[in-house]
Amino acid sequence: MSYLVLARKWRPQTFSDLTGQEHVSQTLQNAIDSGRIAHAFLFTGARGVGKTSSARILAKALTCEQGMSPEPCNVCPACTEITAGTAVDVLEIDGASNTGVDDIRELRENVKYLPSRLRYKIFIIDEVHMLSTNAFNALLKTLEEPPPHVKFIFATTEPHKVPITILSRCQRFDFRRIPLAKVVGRLRHIVDQEQIAISDAALTMVARKGDGSMRDSLSVLDQVLAFCGDQVRDEDVTSLLGVVDRRLLMEATAAIFARDTRASLGIAARVDEFGYNMRQFCGELIDHLRNLLILKAVGDARDLLDLSEAEMASLREQAEAAPLDDLQRHLAILLRTDAEMAQASFPRLMLEMALVRMATLAPVVPVDELLERLKKIEEGGSGGVADARAQWRAGQQPAFASPMPGKAPERHAAPSTPASSMPPRQTERQHAQQQTASASVPSPARREASAPEPRRTGDDWPDFVAFVKGSKPRLGSLLEHGSPLTVSTERLEIGFPEGSFALSSLKDGDAQAALKDMARRFFPAEPTIVLKNLAPGDAAAQPNLLEKKRADEERRQADLKRTATSHPAVSAALDVFGGALAEVVPIDRK
Ligand SMILES: [Zn+2]
Repeated sequence: MSYLVLARKWRPQTFSDLTGQEHVSQTLQNAIDSGRIAHAFLFTGARGVGKTSSARILAKALTCEQGMSPEPCNVCPACTEITAGTAVDVLEIDGASNTGVDDIRELRENVKYLPSRLRYKIFIIDEVHMLSTNAFNALLKTLEEPPPHVKFIFATTEPHKVPITILSRCQRFDFRRIPLAKVVGRLRHIVDQEQIAISDAALTMVARKGDGSMRDSLSVLDQVLAFCGDQVRDEDVTSLLGVVDRRLLMEATAAIFARDTRASLGIAARVDEFGYNMRQFCGELIDHLRNLLILKAVGDARDLLDLSEAEMASLREQAEAAPLDDLQRHLAILLRTDAEMAQASFPRLMLEMALVRMATLAPVVPVDELLERLKKIEEGGSGGVADARAQWRAGQQPAFASPMPGKAPERHAAPSTPASSMPPRQTERQHAQQQTASASVPSPARREASAPEPRRTGDDWPDFVAFVKGSKPRLGSLLEHGSPLTVSTERLEIGFPEGSFALSSLKDGDAQAALKDMARRFFPAEPTIVLKNLAPGDAAAQPNLLEKKRADEERRQADLKRTATSHPAVSAALDVFGGALAEVVPIDRK
């Protein structure tokens, strides 16, 4: 008994058998149901997707002796003859071998005669785009005035080569590439009927090799069965078809995602061992990562991915663990590797380099997740970002940068002042100065109430200058150029650089009076005010406030930087971002 190839044996005989072309069968069946049947059909699509099969099913449905129906009965003489290809009224013409005008002339003669047995005379012209221009012109005459008993069904893989005049007289149906899952489903149905033991994974490999064509898939299956008999092992299919085992791809991505360099390199070794082409494996891995990427990006990707259900499930699981950004970066690495492999003399080395690069890729944390983590740190109580901000702001209180009237400037080091005497004095004077600031006049009552201290130290100098500046900004600014030599309730001795503008300005009578007045208000006494010329490099001179300001500012910046660097919130942020602290910018600089 001769062996009938699967593609012929399992050629669909009804519209419901037709796999993956539901949109076509539905429309055709509706047309038959409603009796609105065109006289010419054009079936377009890739090879092996069911065009010729559909043409025969349509011919049967139109001529079935049981009556015109959406599904042919397949048992009446008309149906069986068409199935066997012996029906005299159904003429199948191969456009590729009957391209001449004579062939079409013959056809036109034939068209004139009524069908001998069937309801219609049906011409099925396969590969119609192969007809010559003259043949098309001859055909057109018939198509323009078709006799009612004639139906044309044209099939073509290249509709763009069919003249528009023909196209416009046909009802066109575009056959799609059959989705992998549907091919696998149909193959499963066939192998079960044929009692062949084969796994879904193997069927998927077969179907993938068929690349969306049912006929090609069945041819591949024929090839596999010829090699393996009716017990098909997965290994046999991979070696026979030369396809990369999906499991190896899954293992490769699993090793990469786990950042397991050793296992990743093991994959390259196994690719070599199995005798796969390195570049082919790289290509398959790209395809695999693309599937993962799409799954990750859109979730339900059944319409976007040509995968079997089983593959989809295992891919989905793997996609869960891989961040989208990582997938994109892996793909970028592989695409570059693929391009480089084309000219490389060491494809295995290229693949290994790519695998190592992917397995050691620095992790990318999505911004959302970073923000979430930062939020958690912030909520984590002391040492949090909120705290840091408070501290930062505290550090920003203008010490000298913009001395505001009424605000007591902080002093950084005051070793000479007894610590115990500090708090009440500070508080009291701050209070007094705040009042000064708001009303620009001190509250004498309050000052008189506090016992006057006999002696002030040099530490009072900055406070005094700030106090003066609060009421008389210009006078205060001039004082900033002076170095305090003696500062006490009895004597206020200030040195200025020889011939300085500040000194000459202060020696002015009005300035002198104003200064005296301010001193009287600040110190609860009337100190003698002495303005002195300072020789350059005078050892007795303390730094003036401007110099002090600069030094203090430098120290403050250093302090800020130290505080920021050692702050737990900052080090947590550095951990999260994995960066380094480049600059500490005080907020008041913004
Ligand atoms: Zn029938």
